[in-house]
Amino acid sequence: MIGHQSSATDVLPFPKISRKDEQLLQTVLNNMSQGVLMFDSETRLVFCNHRYVEMYRLSSEAARPGCLLRDLLGQRIEAGTFSGDADDYILKLIEAMAEGRTYSTTVTLPDGRSFLIESKPLAAGGWIATHEDVTERLRSEERIAHMARHDALTDLPNRVLLRDRLEHEVKRVKRGECLAVLCLDLDQFKGINDALGHPIGDDLLKLVAGRLRGCTREPDTVARLGGDEFAIIMTQMQEPGDAAVLARRIRESIIKPYQIDGHQIVTDISIGISVAPFDGTEPDQLLKNADMALYGAKADGRGTFRFFEPEMDTRMKARRELEMDLRHAIASKEFELYYQPLVNLQKNEITAFEALLRWNHPKRGVTSPADFIPVAEETGLIVPLGEWVLRTACAEAINWPGHVKVAVNLSAAQLNSRNLLSMVTTSLTESGLPPSKLQLEITETVLLQNTFSTLATLHELQKLGVQIALDDFGTGYSSLSYLRSFPFDKIKIDKSFVQDLANGTEPLAIVNAVANLAKCLNMTSTAEGVETKQQLETLQAVGCTEMQGYLFSRARPAREINEIFAKHTAGAFGVGQIPDLAAIDGAQMAKSA
Ligand code: C2E
Ligand code: CA
Ligand code: CA
Repeated sequence: MIGHQSSATDVLPFPKISRKDEQLLQTVLNNMSQGVLMFDSETRLVFCNHRYVEMYRLSSEAARPGCLLRDLLGQRIEAGTFSGDADDYILKLIEAMAEGRTYSTTVTLPDGRSFLIESKPLAAGGWIATHEDVTERLRSEERIAHMARHDALTDLPNRVLLRDRLEHEVKRVKRGECLAVLCLDLDQFKGINDALGHPIGDDLLKLVAGRLRGCTREPDTVARLGGDEFAIIMTQMQEPGDAAVLARRIRESIIKPYQIDGHQIVTDISIGISVAPFDGTEPDQLLKNADMALYGAKADGRGTFRFFEPEMDTRMKARRELEMDLRHAIASKEFELYYQPLVNLQKNEITAFEALLRWNHPKRGVTSPADFIPVAEETGLIVPLGEWVLRTACAEAINWPGHVKVAVNLSAAQLNSRNLLSMVTTSLTESGLPPSKLQLEITETVLLQNTFSTLATLHELQKLGVQIALDDFGTGYSSLSYLRSFPFDKIKIDKSFVQDLANGTEPLAIVNAVANLAKCLNMTSTAEGVETKQQLETLQAVGCTEMQGYLFSRARPAREINEIFAKHTAGAFGVGQIPDLAAIDGAQMAKSA
């Protein structure tokens, strides 16, 4: 330490300074946050400050000027504040000093503290060393590095680390091992999150992360990719079947109920699996293929797992192409509405036309909504597309006779889009169509995500005077509670029941029950997909109010509907007129009516 004036002047080529200056220098050195030492060319200590002694828990005696570096390190070894090989350290240091270069090194002591040591050679021989405590800096650097590679919520590896690990693991595949990549997605997580709030959603994700870890072995990687998406790298596999065993184990674990904040939550998981080397040997390809298999699992009805198959790739490409085309189609005016009549046989009249979307694709030709509506729903394109349908249907229906209504299909995504009410009012005001002439058809899936706001929107629409029909009744969960949750104006019995009427008594009993139910609840019952005279008679017998189907007419372009209306006086579209519709299609239809 500075202050041993006599010995310091013994060894020192220290510049001649006044006593006052020396005191000043001492104050400065002893108040530095770094440890500072100076050695002469013989590796003898010239001075060292307080901080150094304190850092390494030495006695002031131990760091007396004149002592050799070797001895100083010996004291530190005794104090337990030196790690490594002292001779080796000295050798490297001396070597660097001899070569005239700075020697820096970071050491971590047995007690966990880390120091950055920088030794700079001096022109007059010897060197000056600074010792800086970098423990906190290193820890925060580590924390930042950890955060960059882990998910903050669950502390699982994130996509970056997953990809790194996969990069590393596929090298072993190239040496003859096999591995699996599993992409996982919680079913209905969004619904849980929306209904119970984000804090509960977050807790659920943490619990799921814990269960996933519990299902895997030490060398496997469980990662969270974001939202409710997870991925697993399964290593040390004997055969691809091992991945199926893991997938089953995961599902069994995930479906067990969760207790969070007084709520019992049940969820399921869909899993897609790709296996290296069979489905690829590159990380990105394996991830992409597992993701595609996940898509397949979800399409299979969720809560299941699927292995990747090459056809999935082809299908996915076709789907992506469809999506791209769909994005341009509205602007390029490729959509058109066709209209199919709904017939009331008791009143002998056409009551409404259902607007059915057609896509005149420049290359594909006329494309069925069954092919593109699901893609539009998944991508959210259904919202602008649905708006176009609504505006167009209202604008075209304004030209129809007084009592003839227009029915428009709504997807669940449109009801969740919140501005539906203003979209409907705008379409009505812009076209001038009275609300009573608009029917909106929704399916049970809308009510499945039965949020308060969905029901409120439906009530608002009904208050406007718009009618609400429950479409495709019987295909989904068909819970009677849906009928209780909202006062529908109409139930549309799905065409599958109508087409099954000839097969046994069961479909007949169901149709009969639904028709009666509708009557009691003061709703219209409409049978869809009526194709034969026999079906028509049976449906009439059980008291179905309304019918729709090829027997009466296919869906037709607006122009044809207007031509038909032009041939008749307004309001007179009874059964007698229906053959006129058929005449346009050809002789095979509707002779019966
Ligand atoms: P949907 O609402 O159940 O419409 C009835 C479907 O049954 C129509 O098919 C119609 O052409 C068909 N159909 C009518 N009569 C018969 C029959 O006698 N036999 C048979 N086998 N089928 C009959 P389309 O036009 O292909 O529409 C399919 C589905 O696409 C619709 O089912 C509806 O869910 C959806 N869709 C159509 N247009 C729109 C739209 O503008 N918006 C929304 N969100 N969905 C639409
Ligand atoms: Ca419909
Ligand atoms: Ca339907």
